Amino acid sequence: MDAKHTPGPWFVLPLSTTMGAEAREPGSFSIGTSEDAGKANILCSRFPWLECADEMRANARLIAAAPELLKALRAIDDAFVDDSHVDADTPTGRAIIAARAAVSKAEGFAKPRFENVFCSQCGGEFGPGNSGYSHCEDHRKATGA
Ligand SMILES: [Zn+2]
Repeated sequence: MDAKHTPGPWFVLPLSTTMGAEAREPGSFSIGTSEDAGKANILCSRFPWLECADEMRANARLIAAAPELLKALRAIDDAFVDDSHVDADTPTGRAIIAARAAVSKAEGFAKPRFENVFCSQCGGEFGPGNSGYSHCEDHRKATGA
């Protein structure tokens, strides 16, 4: 799938290198497409919020890692092409389901997580969805069926 976001890798840059000397305070940063601020396409900038500068830097590192994280999650999803092999009762199955949910979130929930969801109680099928039902009462409330 082609990415609609700016291709990675992304880098955390000091705001002073992208916005000038007036932005030297800790907690200020930019996210850019190059380690060289002069060559980077700046994706976003954050001005100082001094009381939580460490948290802001940690957030910046997480944001900058997003393209690589998305690529890794897609690789996990691609390694398990057939949904019938995903067992939500196993650690691996839960990891794959979580990876698919994160990819869907990054892609704007463009498609449901599962091609078909089921009820654990009656075995009923309910078509595409992001989660199944544990009890018949749940799908009766959600779908009327
Ligand atoms: Zn049911």
